[in-house]
Amino acid sequence: MDENNRIEDIRSVLKTVDDPELPSVSVYDLGMVYEIRVVAEDVHIKMVPTFLGCPALDFIQMNVKQAVEKIDWVGSCFVQFTMERQWSTDAITDKGKLELRKHGIAPPPEKYRPGDEWTVNCPYCESDYTSMENVFGPTACRSILYCSACRNPFEAMKPVVEQ
Ligand SMILES: [Zn+2]
Repeated sequence: MDENNRIEDIRSVLKTVDDPELPSVSVYDLGMVYEIRVVAEDVHIKMVPTFLGCPALDFIQMNVKQAVEKIDWVGSCFVQFTMERQWSTDAITDKGKLELRKHGIAPPPEKYRPGDEWTVNCPYCESDYTSMENVFGPTACRSILYCSACRNPFEAMKPVVEQ
């Protein structure tokens, strides 16, 4: 198997490892995978943490390691979080955004710049007639909003961009 196929193998596995705080959105679709390197049968993965201070990093690291080591040809998998690059919500893939919406979480706005107004469309009916109920959602990464059009409360992922 050549290196490209091996990396493709690893990518498909990473698409099955969920962020524990965002069930059914994989670490891959969240844009957390920064680099995959294969050295003989060992795999080295560099990841960028989504939100500084999100407590689940150890857990994610362990889940990724275990999932990748289940691949036949993989000896050991080493997972490292790096600060070489800052994660931003623009790194979330289209599939990731779709999954967020399916779970009633409005994806972060695209190409948001600090100081921009943050408008959130309801993940259920797409209306922008929404209001902030609580800046602090279940995690520091999310906020609670309310849609006045379909009268559903929902969560929104806060935009995070490079400063
Ligand atoms: Zn709505």
